[in-house]
Amino acid sequence: MISADYDGLVAATRATLERIASDFTPAVFASSLAAEDMVLTDLILRAKLPIRIFTLETGRLHKETLGMLDRVREVYGYDIEPYRPDPAAVDAYVQQNGLNAFYDSVEMRKECCRIRKVDPLNRALAGQRAWITGQRRAQSATRTELAVQEDDAAHGMAKFNPLADWLEEDVWHYIRSNDVPYNPLHDRGYPSIGCEPCTRAIQPGEDVRAGRWWWENPESKECGLHVVDGKLIRIKQIA
Ligand code: SF4
Repeated sequence: MISADYDGLVAATRATLERIASDFTPAVFASSLAAEDMVLTDLILRAKLPIRIFTLETGRLHKETLGMLDRVREVYGYDIEPYRPDPAAVDAYVQQNGLNAFYDSVEMRKECCRIRKVDPLNRALAGQRAWITGQRRAQSATRTELAVQEDDAAHGMAKFNPLADWLEEDVWHYIRSNDVPYNPLHDRGYPSIGCEPCTRAIQPGEDVRAGRWWWENPESKECGLHVVDGKLIRIKQIA
């Protein structure tokens, strides 16, 4: 069931994005190309807001996820900017540890995420006043304190999660009623999509992020984009 005040939720999200565009320029949206991020992409591009959209092209994404870059170009005439890892760092990791060493330990997994996601993210965020994510509070045990606006001290800028209050049903209601393109993996049991070797389909009733790094325990399941020194950033909400 969608939120009782779904229309108010959409209006508040539009207002948040407009405020970011007017008060926090330059601002960027880090899109994972998943369902939530397509909602934000649609809201940003239809309103022609001056917010640049990029994605972390880790080199290990599903072909369906990469296909979303073409879909966005077809539907909106917009090129989402891919940020890729440093080839030398990837080569060194693979040479020393093997291509799939992330299965061996949490440390090896975090090191792969650092090279393929965190370092490119830091490059993408350089010089910005704010960044935007498609995270929702209801997504997992690690996101229960998520606020719409946070102080990202680690990056020295504001961080916005405009969909923090949205339910999964709200996301799909928006997508279906606005003909928003979405990753076909969502129809094959993937509510949350990351890199191909680190994401599996889930069974009915499983937590939506159960398919991400499924071999780890739930508390360690973040990619490092929202953590510092291996811990979740304790986020200070700005009134
Ligand atoms: S999700 Fe997996 S493949 Fe992707 S960067 Fe992290 S450890 Fe590496």
